[in-house]
Amino acid sequence: MKLADVYPPKGHVQTLSCNGCGEPLDLVFADFHEAVSGIDIAITGLPYLRCASCGKDHLPDNSRFAIVRLHEEAVAKSSAAINVTRRASDEKYNFTNVDFIYSADDYRYIPGLERPWNRGFLTPVFFNKAALLKYDASPDYEVKFASATYGTIYGKDFLISFGINKNAKVIMWLGDLAKLPESEQFYLRSENVPSDHCVASEFYNGQIDAQFTKQPVEDQLFGLRSEFIAAMYGKLGIKIAHLDDEVISVSVGFNPPLVDTPKERRHVADTLNKIYVESWDNIALGKAIASQGGDPKALGTLKRLQMVLEALAPGGGISSLMSPLFVLYDFRVAASHLASESAGAEKMKTVTDRLALQEGADLPTIYARLIGELLKTFKTLVHLFATPSK
Ligand SMILES: [Zn+2]
Repeated sequence: MKLADVYPPKGHVQTLSCNGCGEPLDLVFADFHEAVSGIDIAITGLPYLRCASCGKDHLPDNSRFAIVRLHEEAVAKSSAAINVTRRASDEKYNFTNVDFIYSADDYRYIPGLERPWNRGFLTPVFFNKAALLKYDASPDYEVKFASATYGTIYGKDFLISFGINKNAKVIMWLGDLAKLPESEQFYLRSENVPSDHCVASEFYNGQIDAQFTKQPVEDQLFGLRSEFIAAMYGKLGIKIAHLDDEVISVSVGFNPPLVDTPKERRHVADTLNKIYVESWDNIALGKAIASQGGDPKALGTLKRLQMVLEALAPGGGISSLMSPLFVLYDFRVAASHLASESAGAEKMKTVTDRLALQEGADLPTIYARLIGELLKTFKTLVHLFATPSK
């Protein structure tokens, strides 16, 4: 290759999207070995941006400049070959006294993070998802999701935005962390893990990438669920659902089905059930019913939720609003091995009937309709129960 080809192409802006297929890129460290305008250059551990989807590698600008510098060095020394091993950067940025683990290479090589001011501010710091679970479980904090991969933690006198990457790791910016009360920083440090160099998320898109990305309906739905939980907290003073490990894991990287197989049906039905049916807090809902003067015994989770909502909004059409959730529940029964074949088919017919679809509709069709109905339900629930903002 020619040296001129190593320089960033004119007008080219490296983004976190693959220029082959458009999918997000991960930072990886790989070996470079090429003859560059007559000089044999070998670099071990050069940062690349790799597409996990199609495998295409992209050279970050700072890697390009590193090759150019090595070329210059070789020319100055009149050597025909140069061979270097690059070490991971251990540079630390002075934002906080709390000793967070992070990779300065992320800051320098992931597109869009390096800025001429506030050097190191947008360094991603990675955490176990347990960090979120603690905040969610405590009445002193609130964890709200705008989408499955972008949320905010609200404390009494602080807030901080976070992302969730494809490996279900939580990401926050170092500069944001440094502004938190020190006790929060120390807590977060206890869940801090080394970078996996993957930052693609709605968090990254929203905060870094100027380009408009359309939010997938799955993410909109997850955000509305979060808004509904917050609205109910405002009404009842209890959290009617808790985040758990599994909800985070299954909601990250959940994709609409493309094929219709029994396995895919089970996967889709199980995933949606975990998030939208099974994650409601049965005990909290039971307490709410008891405090409204009702008796929760013998009621399943969805029935409990329905009863709580009906007491708050009599005449609000709650039972028809809840219908898509019951349909989802039945869809899972029909798709699982729980039912015999004939009982499963019968159940499936009640699902397609209630979704106003033809009997025998395929999975992508059922899925699209069901998600659409769930969206309407949660939009209306938020509208019904959200208190006007403070
Ligand atoms: Zn690609």
